[in-house]
Amino acid sequence: VAKSAGGGSFRLFAPAAAEDPRARLELEAALRRALDDGEFELYYQPVVDTVTNEIVGAEALVRWNSAGGVVTPLQFIRVAEETGLIVRLDAWVLEEACRQTREWTIAHPERTPLKVNVNLSALQFSRSSVVAEVADILRRTGLPPQQLCLEITETGMMTDTELTITTLEELKALGVGVAIDDFGTGYSSLSYLKRFPVDIVKIDRSFTAGLGQNLVDSEILVAVVRLAAACNITVVAEGVETVEQRRALAELGCPLIQGYLIAKPQPASTFADAWRTQPPVHRQSA
Ligand code: C2E
Ligand code: MG
Ligand code: MG
Ligand code: MG
Repeated sequence: VAKSAGGGSFRLFAPAAAEDPRARLELEAALRRALDDGEFELYYQPVVDTVTNEIVGAEALVRWNSAGGVVTPLQFIRVAEETGLIVRLDAWVLEEACRQTREWTIAHPERTPLKVNVNLSALQFSRSSVVAEVADILRRTGLPPQQLCLEITETGMMTDTELTITTLEELKALGVGVAIDDFGTGYSSLSYLKRFPVDIVKIDRSFTAGLGQNLVDSEILVAVVRLAAACNITVVAEGVETVEQRRALAELGCPLIQGYLIAKPQPASTFADAWRTQPPVHRQSA
């Protein structure tokens, strides 16, 4: 049985599964069961201040503990989106992330309250009930809205820009932050930084990878950091893997970084230990 299950999951999670109708149906059924049976878990990847090295936040990233092993979102998010299952998944992720963050904050009042970033799929973001659902989860978990930031990809914001602006304004009114995820990979223009009321821009890791290698990537990073600062938007550089990249980003004034250099996404308890045991940060008084 174990062997056939392994073989089945191999086929299920192979990149071609999304293309093969039968494999897709199987994956959809497996995802549905996984949601019912609570097979999902959140991993957390730290977001670090380039000046103080402090862990100021974390991005919650979903993992599926399937019979065949831990499955990453790259292997199932697309099918979850296309079947609409992502709406249930995102709701679970949001509630779990808020609940855990609230728990850590209460257990460690001596620490600066942690900011948690949660990914919202384009489908979830475009639902008319999204703001009410976020408000509901905040109320249920008791997490102060200021500690939550929702990540929406550039592409997810582009489908209907008027609706996007309205939803962003309503989320802002709730007190939650919003980040544009994977910035630079879609077909957005820099003027969206001015038009959309967002708090954070996450520069896609392809630009970080080009730092010091590719002059254009480096210049794009410099331009986005400067423009964001002028628009009062915070920047997170994704995918920081080397000390050279970290140094370059700090030098060009990028305030926040995230990437394997600091830590890979970790199980909740591993992340929480790193967060609560980090050395105290001495801030300059204003
Ligand atoms: P994302 O939101 O851009 O998340 C960052 C991805 O980059 C994560 O992959 C993370 O593990 C990976 N990453 C972080 N640092 C590095 C690095 O230094 N080098 C490299 N090569 N990769 C790095 P992950 O966890 O596999 O997630 C992939 C994508 O799946 C996410 O991209 C996000 O779009 C989506 N996703 C993850 N969790 C959720 C969720 O709960 N809901 C929704 N709707 N989407 C999710
Ligand atoms: Mg993200
Ligand atoms: Mg991202
Ligand atoms: Mg990305």
